[in-house]
Amino acid sequence: MHNQKKALVCGAGGFIGGHLVERLKKEGYWVRGVDIKQHEYRKTAADEFVQGDLRDQGLCRSITKDIHFDELYQLAADMGGAGYIFTGEHDAVVMHNSATINLNMAESAKETGIKKLFYSSSACIYPEHIQKEANNPGLKETDAYPAAPDSEYGWEKLFSERMFLSYARNFGLEVHIARFHNIFGPYGTWTGGREKAPAAMCRKVAEAADGGTIEVWGDGEQTRTFLYIDECLEGIRRLMESAVSGPVNIGSDELISINNLAKMAMEIAGKKISINHIPGPLGVRGRSSDNTYIQQALGWRPMSRLIDGMRVTYTWIAKQVGENGK
Ligand code: NAD
Repeated sequence: MHNQKKALVCGAGGFIGGHLVERLKKEGYWVRGVDIKQHEYRKTAADEFVQGDLRDQGLCRSITKDIHFDELYQLAADMGGAGYIFTGEHDAVVMHNSATINLNMAESAKETGIKKLFYSSSACIYPEHIQKEANNPGLKETDAYPAAPDSEYGWEKLFSERMFLSYARNFGLEVHIARFHNIFGPYGTWTGGREKAPAAMCRKVAEAADGGTIEVWGDGEQTRTFLYIDECLEGIRRLMESAVSGPVNIGSDELISINNLAKMAMEIAGKKISINHIPGPLGVRGRSSDNTYIQQALGWRPMSRLIDGMRVTYTWIAKQVGENGK
């Protein structure tokens, strides 16, 4: 432990945090993970896992005080797919929980002198009115202002970006911020209402019989880009090793409609299934990542193909559903 770099990962029981812990371990870090819950789908790779509530300032102090951490990754948030964050029913809870966690962690990082902090923001901070077309040309980092996110989840992320950057300016904290665009992969939420579109499509197709029907919200022509988890981790690590503070988009620019995403899952499964369009929460009409800035800033941008990540994800979800992947 003495010669190892030490990292604190908040949200280590979650999808990206769980993968990040694995990645840091492979790189030789000593890792403490923190989350209000254990990882749902696998045993944590962290050297130490603290189960606790990051809304509690006392907990935030205690997990940052006893060890000098080289790096802090703040990924804990009250999160969900469109079914959770776009209905409006959870607005106050989402804002309160996530803002409290972020305020607590910024303050603890300042108090204990953690030099380097990563914060996971989101593409949900971008203004709604520039995402009205399915053929979205790609959101640039500078598009964030004048601000007009379409959800309170997005407003909270924007507030916390600014809050962490103000800690950087006033207290000398080294802050790195990424705006993730729909990250997907195995070991993530795939059922229960908080799952994102790739996982939802894989599950629906895995559960459906060949020749059956699945449901898709809206007309299915809304578009998104989806980034496979391994490239998200690569982006986080490159950003942390760079002099770039951000915010930087970490997303794919391979735009696909939800109908075509469903068809991709069907193709992988080798099933013929029809789509029944039903009303549901949709979010914006079209969203893609403009990767000019990340390429410029880091000399790297995500390049993997959606189909490759979807194959791995489908296989894992089909296994969860109890199928054999066919
Ligand atoms: P996730 O929900 O799997 O992980 C978040 C974790 O935070 C969960 O394990 C949850 O238990 C934990 N958490 C919530 N409240 C807590 C509390 N009070 N105390 C301690 N832990 C608490 O989500 P994820 O997909 O892994 O996302 C990680 C981060 O990336 C989040 O900040 C999210 O907003 C951001 N993000 C994710 C995506 C994506 O596509 N997955 C896109 C944009 C931004």
